[in-house]
Amino acid sequence: MTGRVADQLAALIELDLLDQELIALRGEEKSAPKVLAALVRQVQERSGVRDTTAGKLEATTKANREGERQLEVIERRVARAAARLDGLFVSTQIEATQREIEQLGLQRDEVEMAVLEGMEVADRLAEELVGAEAAVTEAEASLAVARAAWDERAPVVAARCAELETAQDAVLPKVHKDTLRMYMVGIENRQNSTPRGITRTNGIMCTMCQTDIPVVWVNEARNGEGIHLCLCCKRVIVGKVDVALSDEPTAGPDYQTRRD
Ligand SMILES: [Zn+2]
Repeated sequence: MTGRVADQLAALIELDLLDQELIALRGEEKSAPKVLAALVRQVQERSGVRDTTAGKLEATTKANREGERQLEVIERRVARAAARLDGLFVSTQIEATQREIEQLGLQRDEVEMAVLEGMEVADRLAEELVGAEAAVTEAEASLAVARAAWDERAPVVAARCAELETAQDAVLPKVHKDTLRMYMVGIENRQNSTPRGITRTNGIMCTMCQTDIPVVWVNEARNGEGIHLCLCCKRVIVGKVDVALSDEPTAGPDYQTRRD
């Protein structure tokens, strides 16, 4: 490429390479805290479930113990009434005591049933608690792994960003301010799914958005004679697809054969 804007297009290609890596790294820096925060929330949620289950189990166990104490009281009253019965001779007193023993028996059955049911509930809650505790442990482990990974990765990302910014500073003086403005259009175009300032052509098609571009522009870009924006994605057309720079999404399977 030897045209009058060839050096501008070449500088944009350099700038794009730096920008693409920077955008990816900054995306990583932005998403990492969100991922960690989500894991923290997961630990909190699971801890909440565990605490609720533990609370229910404690309340049920307490109620069961209270029921058992009631049973003991009833048994003692039955025993006392039975002992009293032995010393009674008046029929009305005997009948009253027998009724009392009968009533106590009914009461005992009722409390006994409640305790049995309560013990089943406690067993189920104890099982749930084991599961809930395991879930907390698992979430805490995931968080610890993610934290350790990011603690290690963050300085690497920061250092690489600094390197790329330095390299950018070296390239930017080579780019004319109007060229840079055109380059920024594609990066800032909200319609584009990928923030990127340049595109290439495959035949007459933009490789970034698959729109056909006027042949004159395609040729000018290829020969370094003109700076044009793709009609659709507004990225600067820097030339035809090149195997050495094939990181862009390319068109159909005939892309190799259509290169000229
Ligand atoms: Zn395009």
